[in-house]
Amino acid sequence: MILFIALMGYLIYFTIVRAGTFVNSPYNQRQDAFARDVIRGSITDRNGNVLAETQVAEDGTETRHYPYGSLFSHVVGYYDADLGKTGLESVENFELLTSNAFFVEKIQNEFNDAKNQGDTVVSTLDADLQQAASDALGDYRGAVVVMEADTGRILAMVSKPSFDPNDISSRWETLNTDEENSPLLNRATGGSYAPGSVFKIVTALAYMRQYGNYGSYSYNCTGSITVGDTTIPCAGGNVHGHEDLRSSFANSCNSSFANLGLQLNIDGFRDTAGDLLFNSQLPGVLDYTKSSFVLDESSPDSEVMMTSMGQGRTTVSPYHMSLITQAIANGGTLMEPYLVDSVTNYTGTEIRRNVPKSYARLMSSDEAAQLKEYMTAVVTEGTGSVLSGRSYTVAGKTGTAEYSSDDSDRTHSWFTGFTNVDNPELVITVITEGSDGSTGGRAVSIAGTILDSYYN
Ligand SMILES: [Zn+2]
Repeated sequence: MILFIALMGYLIYFTIVRAGTFVNSPYNQRQDAFARDVIRGSITDRNGNVLAETQVAEDGTETRHYPYGSLFSHVVGYYDADLGKTGLESVENFELLTSNAFFVEKIQNEFNDAKNQGDTVVSTLDADLQQAASDALGDYRGAVVVMEADTGRILAMVSKPSFDPNDISSRWETLNTDEENSPLLNRATGGSYAPGSVFKIVTALAYMRQYGNYGSYSYNCTGSITVGDTTIPCAGGNVHGHEDLRSSFANSCNSSFANLGLQLNIDGFRDTAGDLLFNSQLPGVLDYTKSSFVLDESSPDSEVMMTSMGQGRTTVSPYHMSLITQAIANGGTLMEPYLVDSVTNYTGTEIRRNVPKSYARLMSSDEAAQLKEYMTAVVTEGTGSVLSGRSYTVAGKTGTAEYSSDDSDRTHSWFTGFTNVDNPELVITVITEGSDGSTGGRAVSIAGTILDSYYN
């Protein structure tokens, strides 16, 4: 009898509490059986612009249509009966194939053997900002992520090269075998990049935690640092002279950061990286690649020095860098990023709405305030000064990351930062691959172009 009751209890629990999870699982092959009764719903941006919709021809043939072509190819993704689904098309599949059309209408459809119209997913994306980000990135390979600082709402997510989901089936073979460009990869969440100098945020925080007197740190930069067989030069042949931690950060001084790294307890460094979600799960809904921090007590000095300035074997995604930056903007608390504002029925009646919620505290408010001050100095007097004197304020960190040991010209350009420094508004992260040129120059100017279009 006890076993029988336990069994009943579990069935009730499964049906009421767990069912949604299983129905919505991407591994559930039966989910698409809903498509027999429901016309797949639309995905819109936050202002109601349609990003994906199903068009029904007179003979009943359904075609998934993407009005913006390749603009949202990774974040909205594609849906194809044979090829599968990605992006929001995948994670919101259950909502799109559920119809909360009005009851009387559903009865009528039942009698007429007609399909019900699926629900609409209202995303957090902003078509204008997405377009501005895509235009600013131009033909560079790379990614842009823009989110609201205080809510975690993702407003834009661009990855290039992109593809047009309208003709995915006819171009599938080409897209899928293009290993040089990997157009199907969402670089924003799935890209694994050397962080370069944007990683100095992590190193600075580790040093602040291990040395309470970090305010009195001082270093004399002579343009390079040599320990054993390893010499690390500062970017662009710069000699930075006498620096404290703030000016080392603002100047993005490689020598000073290699010097800082050598003074760190490596287990503690590793813990700080872990607190910032390296080697760990990230919040959010899209597929992503975990970031990796591999230093340990046995790592040689050369690797400690390289890692401290963002080289070495550390990898990170642009999405992850934007989360770290968002937490700094929010006084240490990471707001859980999200992509769906609400789900409505096809007439616009709201079914459910997502609200901002905090995910975790990544650092103390004092630590966040200190990093914010350093990131402000980057723009007011350091490597990000191209962003000063605009109609909005910015704090951030630039970066250049070498990714090929045999060709030091091959560098990624990074920028991560936030606007409206006193009351943070937008968090923006930009990476361009394979750019030549000076420290973070390309990414920081792309960020400026995107922000100009938003604020002006
Ligand atoms: Zn230097």
